[in-house]
Amino acid sequence: MNKIAVVGAGISGLSMANYLEKNQIDYHIYERRKKDDLAAGHGFLIPQEGMEYLSQIIDCSQLLEHGSFLKKYIQYSHTGKMLAEKELENVFAISRHSLINLLAQNISPEKISYEECITPCKTEKGRFKSSDGIYIDTDIAIISDGSKSRIRRDLFKDEKMRQVRESEAVNIIHNKEIADSIENDFIKFHHEEGGLTFGILKLSHDTILWYSQFDNEKYKINEYSSEDLKKYMLDIFAEWHPLVSSIIQKSNYESVHLWCVYELEKLNPFYKDNVVFIGDSAHPLIPFTSQGVTSALKDSSILTKYLVEEDNTTTAFRKYEAERKPEIEVHIHNGRALLSQFLLSLDQQSSNILPISYK
Ligand SMILES: Cc1cc2nc3c(=O)[nH]c(=O)nc-3n(C[C@H](O)[C@H](O)[C@H](O)COP(=O)(O)OP(=O)(O)OC[C@H]3O[C@@H](n4cnc5c(N)ncnc54)[C@H](O)[C@@H]3O)c2cc1C
Repeated sequence: MNKIAVVGAGISGLSMANYLEKNQIDYHIYERRKKDDLAAGHGFLIPQEGMEYLSQIIDCSQLLEHGSFLKKYIQYSHTGKMLAEKELENVFAISRHSLINLLAQNISPEKISYEECITPCKTEKGRFKSSDGIYIDTDIAIISDGSKSRIRRDLFKDEKMRQVRESEAVNIIHNKEIADSIENDFIKFHHEEGGLTFGILKLSHDTILWYSQFDNEKYKINEYSSEDLKKYMLDIFAEWHPLVSSIIQKSNYESVHLWCVYELEKLNPFYKDNVVFIGDSAHPLIPFTSQGVTSALKDSSILTKYLVEEDNTTTAFRKYEAERKPEIEVHIHNGRALLSQFLLSLDQQSSNILPISYK
């Protein structure tokens, strides 16, 4: 069997490792960050299809212990006028921390090297070096190094990335009172003029995730420290429904994340020679789609299937790309449509409200 190196231990790298494990295919993962830094961050909405893939590699009862199913999506204006309501079918919410830990538990420690930043070798095509300049002994490189993949940029030099006209502040807070009050609803408030939202969802009995989406041309917050961000948010959300202003007031901002979102103008091929891309490194998806995790899981599952079925690696990569790319293009299209809706004032938005892209 070919030697496989997986670069990046985020959701897609760890999902890939789980599928390879399941099929008894040997591999090694290289991750540039420290183990403890990996699980930090935000949370995910995962639609039913993603849960089906996750249940192939993680025990469902463990998943349920660490997150919760959301029952309804309720959309309000910023002052609290209810605009729409929709039942959710098996949409799950979980923190990144929990999902990373669950995906990592099936991987034996000797199969992951942390603090190893992998770079392509300048002189030899398809070869990679570790942080200390040593060649990685691999026949196949599965790249899962995220949306701003350096390895992808090195292979496809003329690609064009652009910042999306939306930034996102995400925070996870412990507050049982608020968690009880929102039950299992996914609540989202929208400014009547568009371009500013505040979403709240429950991750566990005493933990909620809140996020705010900004039109970054109207709201220029990129350079702010967490203390300044709090002041800024208190200011722009001051006249909003009391639930929003009280959450902003009560939150601890030490671990708030401010995301600038990027997309590729045009997708690259998903493989070149012995190198294949999965997850955000193959196809950055904007957060509006809520499809990043599900797509990473599907990439991993389908790539593994073809690596098992096909003797020839190029054939496996070609079949993987042919199966995955058309679906990703649908999510990119839907994500752009959701972004345009977000920028419009509420009276111009269509009634298709769900912030999830379905194919
Ligand atoms: C604000 C926000 C909200 C989102 N909400 C959702 C949601 O609700 N639902 C959903 O499904 N998706 C959501 N997403 C998308 C989701 O986060 C991503 O699709 C998913 O995390 C992709 O995982 P990944 O493993 O491909 O990339 P990443 O999570 O970026 O992981 C890449 C890993 O590679 C490592 N790495 C990078 N370079 C190297 C190198 N040279 N050598 C070794 N290691 C390297 C990095 O340290 C990192 O650990 C959201 C994204 C954002 C920004």
